[in-house]
Parts: sequence; C-alpha cells; structure tokens
Amino acid sequence: MSEYPYKRILLKISGESLGAHQSSLNHEIYSTEVVQNLAAQIVKLVERGVQLAIVVGGGNILRGGHVTEAFQIDRTTADTMGMLATVMNALALQSVIESHGAHCRVLSGIHMQTVAEPFIRRRAVRHLEKGRVVIFAGGTGNPYFTTDTAAALRALEIQADVMLKATNVSGVYSSDPRKNPDAVFYEQLTYQQAIDQNLKIMDGTAFTLLRDFHMPLVVFSIQSQDSLHTVLKGEGQFTKIQ
Ligand code: UDP
Repeated sequence: MSEYPYKRILLKISGESLGAHQSSLNHEIYSTEVVQNLAAQIVKLVERGVQLAIVVGGGNILRGGHVTEAFQIDRTTADTMGMLATVMNALALQSVIESHGAHCRVLSGIHMQTVAEPFIRRRAVRHLEKGRVVIFAGGTGNPYFTTDTAAALRALEIQADVMLKATNVSGVYSSDPRKNPDAVFYEQLTYQQAIDQNLKIMDGTAFTLLRDFHMPLVVFSIQSQDSLHTVLKGEGQFTKIQ
C-alpha cells in the first residue's frame, strides 16, 4: 500500500522541465543532472507503492506552432513532428528510469511498434498494476492538441486519483512571479476561480476536461531534489485545484 493519499498518479512533465537550455534542435535538449534527478524521484515513488504514469511533452525539442511559423511547414505536419519529439523524450526518460532500477514501458499514441507499444488503455492499467512506470508518448496522437490535453485525457482514461503538473515555478500565481515580484501565490483554487481570474495554468481544452470530469490537479516545481515525494506528502509549496 502507498504511504501517500494517492494510489495512481498521472504526472505531466513538460519538455522544458527536462532542463534544455534552449528550445531548438541545435541546442542541448537535456540536462543530465535534471533528468537523473527526475528519474531517481520517479523510481523512489514506485518503490513506495505508487502507480505512476507519465505524459512527457516535447517543447525542449520543438513545438508545432513554432515550426509552422518559422519554416512555413503546415500545422498538421508540424504537430506530427512535435508528437514525434515527445516520443524521443519518452525513450530517453525510459532509459534513465530503467538505469535507476524500475521497469518502464513507453506506450505511444502514434503507432510505431518497433519503438514503443501502442497505447491500449487496458494494457497501460495492467503495467501500472504490476508496478511498472508507464510513459505515454506521442501526445493524443492527433494534431492541434497539446501534451497537457494528452495528460488530462490519459489521467481520466486510467482513472488516476490526481494529475500532477510539474513546472519550473512552485505553483500557480496571480501573474508570472519571474516578471512580477508582487505576484500572489495560491495554495488552493477551484477550477471556476482559475477560469474567472483567467489564470494561465494550461490550455483550455485540458483544463475543461479536468474540470468537467472532476480530476484534481496539483501544480508544483520539479526543480528541487525531493519535490515529488514532498508534494505527495502534502508538504512544501504547490497549488491544488479541484
Ligand atoms: N502535439 C500534438 N498533439 C498532441 C500533443 C502534442 O500535435 O496531442 C504536438 C504539438 O505540436 C506540440 C508538440 O507536440 O507543440 C509538443 O508538445 P507540447 O508543446 O505540449 O510540449 P511541452 O510544452 O509540454 O513540452
């Protein structure tokens, strides 16, 4: 049994949280230190009995919107490139997680059988029950969505108890705390409060899905060494939206 109040968790990790210095193919896409720390934290949770599924983004490599603007590549193709970037991140993370001693499976929303298992909901749940980390790659498998939406969708599909959104800031503020030192931090919010105050937490499709189907969301910073464990214990700084 898990020592945390949640048994099954969906963790959304943006590509940028993997420690890239700049979002471009020409620059470093990972920080070894950040990825190793993340993998160690993930394995620790699984060893403590948590069923952990992850949706990983691709923004450290490329985003569809940017590719369309910069290279005049049509949006559907550019988004497919973005989804492939998430598969690259998923494979990297899988490798590092396994080097830390946990079993890990990548299930992709875009079918590519020689690289990853196809996304099959029942199979994902079976892996989780067996104590394997599951990484959902390839987003929703459809263009015009984000990996936040993929995370909300998968969280509902696997009947997670909570969705965790790992970011580079310690939760939700009234405005960007990196630009505005007077920004107010929120410990708790309802979905309606977040909508009324126009707080930019994730894209509208993802947010609406979580709200409509009553999935609690925890926003926290993945930067510190033990943040996953601390947040799940209800300690440290984070924002809970429900
Ligand atoms: N993407 C997509 N459909 C999805 C998920 C992602 O088309 O269901 C594409 C989209 O182009 C997006 C890119 O993949 O820009 C990378 O995902 P995202 O920007 O969500 O990554 P993050 O910001 O979390 O690193």
